[in-house]
Amino acid sequence: MTAKRPEVAAAALPDEGAAARPIHTIVIVGTGQAGGWAAQTLRREGFTGRIVLIGDEVHPPHERPPLSKAVLSGAAQPETTRLMKPEAFDALGAQWRPGVQARRIDRAARQVLLSDGEAVPYDKLILCTGGRARRLAVPGADQVPLHTLRTVEDAMALAPALMPGRRVVVVGGGWIGLEVAATARQRGADVVVVETQGRLCERTVPAAISEYLLALHHSQGTRVVLGAGVLGFARAADGRSEVRLADGSVLVADTIVLGIGLVPNDELAREAGLACEGGVLVDARCRTSDPDILAAGDVAVALNPWAGRRLRLESWQNAQDQGIAAARSALGHAVDYQPLPWFWSDQYGMNLQIYGVPTPAHRVVQRGDQASGGFVLFYLAGDVVQAAIGPNAARDLRFARRLIEQRRPVNVERLADLGTPMSKL
Ligand code: ADP
Repeated sequence: MTAKRPEVAAAALPDEGAAARPIHTIVIVGTGQAGGWAAQTLRREGFTGRIVLIGDEVHPPHERPPLSKAVLSGAAQPETTRLMKPEAFDALGAQWRPGVQARRIDRAARQVLLSDGEAVPYDKLILCTGGRARRLAVPGADQVPLHTLRTVEDAMALAPALMPGRRVVVVGGGWIGLEVAATARQRGADVVVVETQGRLCERTVPAAISEYLLALHHSQGTRVVLGAGVLGFARAADGRSEVRLADGSVLVADTIVLGIGLVPNDELAREAGLACEGGVLVDARCRTSDPDILAAGDVAVALNPWAGRRLRLESWQNAQDQGIAAARSALGHAVDYQPLPWFWSDQYGMNLQIYGVPTPAHRVVQRGDQASGGFVLFYLAGDVVQAAIGPNAARDLRFARRLIEQRRPVNVERLADLGTPMSKL
């Protein structure tokens, strides 16, 4: 089945340039999930040239979702997050440069200059530099230990602090904040979530789902303070930390975690003069404004026809699929990467999934309710489903995805009726 995508104006494509040059060396900067998939894909597609993998992380390519869940709780070791078994990674025959940073791209000479002084030539360059945890520039931020959660090291540093009876204050009620809060609570910590907005995950979910998440965290004994700005931090007399809120209240914490969003690592691209807009701009072939340089994963911004605007997709799905697409595109294959956004989160055993991009303009149709275990909210334009979200409804959401991709009108009454299997819609 092919997905019928909505029509939107195409992004300007980089110039096709002269006849294709032979590709001897492909350099991938960033060894997270997107970089790892790009490297594997190059070999799967038969590329026998040189692959150079440059990563400031010292770990082989790995997935991040378990870092705020199973790895943080101690249920899984960091090694379990690796994309490839060590033998498979070795078999790629890539020149892996762990702990090394790319400092500059010399586009004229087609070289990447590294922190160890080396200059690595490329024929194609794939930027998979991801992002870093946003920091908070308020008074006292340098007086108390502030954890973030992005890397293996972050998870290992935070895990021992999540102990029964310890007070953990999580700043930020988005995905990272809520997943860390859930893990901390399950470890027996006393947890407070502080969120500046009036509702949880405001950036990514409609109000009804924010309310559902709030009720879920309350039911687990987590305190959530909404509409609360953090004015600053201070060291308390007993050596603990204080979080000072705009309303004058003070929260005392053994541990503070910041989960206030991701800053894309696009400096390398910006300094090289590539078009950037809150991340590195790419087209549906994953090409930046320089056709020999591609980008994929958390750092890439692309026009998404399902959203009707440019988006940076911070998701497991996008890291993998865009990494694959960028590698294929670098090799000259026809690539048309315009994914239906798919996102999921696990909190206290609840699995929430989102397909598409709901907006306030959509009509909402609900199928099921909490009493039936899980439910789905469908977001429609006319009688066509555009997006769907639901907790504990993975099966129905798989069918919802098909409905969205087919863009065919549905019978709204049957959609809302649990007696009508989704497969019949
Ligand atoms: P992530 O996926 O990294 O969690 P999100 O954008 O989903 O990123 O969530 C970040 C959350 O942090 C948002 O809900 C945002 O409103 C909140 N936030 C940002 N700055 C602050 C702050 N200073 N204090 C509390 N919450 C904040």
